[in-house]
Amino acid sequence: MKKHMACMAASLLVISMLLGGCGRKETVGEDTAVVAAESTQAQAAVSMEETEAEAEPVKEQTEDKADASGDPVKAKEDTQEASVSGDAEKIQPNGHIVCIDPGHSSVMPSFGSEPLGPGSGEYKAADASGTHGNASGLAEYELVLQVSLALRTELEKRGYEVVLTREDNETPVSCAERAAVATDAGADIFVRIHANGSGNTEVSGAMGLCITPGNAFHPELYKDSRMLTDDILNTYCEVTGIKNTGGVWETDSMSGNNWSTVPATILEMGYMTNPAEDQWMADEKNQVQMVKGIADGIDLYFAHQAEKEAGDEKDADSESSSQDPGEAGEPSSESSEASGSEADE
Ligand SMILES: [Zn+2]
Repeated sequence: MKKHMACMAASLLVISMLLGGCGRKETVGEDTAVVAAESTQAQAAVSMEETEAEAEPVKEQTEDKADASGDPVKAKEDTQEASVSGDAEKIQPNGHIVCIDPGHSSVMPSFGSEPLGPGSGEYKAADASGTHGNASGLAEYELVLQVSLALRTELEKRGYEVVLTREDNETPVSCAERAAVATDAGADIFVRIHANGSGNTEVSGAMGLCITPGNAFHPELYKDSRMLTDDILNTYCEVTGIKNTGGVWETDSMSGNNWSTVPATILEMGYMTNPAEDQWMADEKNQVQMVKGIADGIDLYFAHQAEKEAGDEKDADSESSSQDPGEAGEPSSESSEASGSEADE
């Protein structure tokens, strides 16, 4: 009987898929990102938890109907109705996929360390605990998750498809694993959200980090990574009024950037060790501005990409292969000491 019911439920699913067309959320769990890639924006806006929560009652309803009435057509109609009910607000997808990486977590990966980049013999801690707010009391991983979740909502409103490397503070994710989330999702860009710390509580302001032109792993991603970093840092500072004190730190010491197969950037939004800046960033009203600043920078990056594509593509191709051989193989030679920053991924 159980087998029969499972079989029946499966056939109903097939029928409803045929009638409902593509882009519906029959699949949950690890295929969510793939389904979301093919789905409408409104559906993509539904988080994984919501998808699972929503999908479950539909399944039960189908089984109940099939069991009680034995009428597969009626059950199918009900299923279809239930599963399209969340599609009311349609947002035009813009075709871009953004992977947001909220830095750190309260739990560290069990394996401790991992290669600094693909094939590297140099190892670095798989994750770091990050800084914390000396006035707000927030941990960096809490602040950056708040901002990242709001950023996801904002980007989805703008038509982006968004994936996050973590959605809670209890999941350990190594830097290489974070980069793999972007790769697996087919993301166009990898945007890593952090806040800074310093032994000097006077130090304040934002900075951006990206790989160097001589990166040993993906030097071809330098130009786009640098453009992404400039665009986000500039619009972020413009919108929030936070000063661009750190500029762009080009470094190959960030393993998540080295492992990334798409243009990657780290935004250090401000200093949590500066009491005033910490309090400012912890305020939800200000986080709206922070999110807008980052989202504007992402818009600007894709506008720049579109301009580049519309221009001379040949130039872009030949430029992207240029690199400085002198820096290759010396991944962690740079220092952020000059700015007083403890920036880490
Ligand atoms: Zn950090």
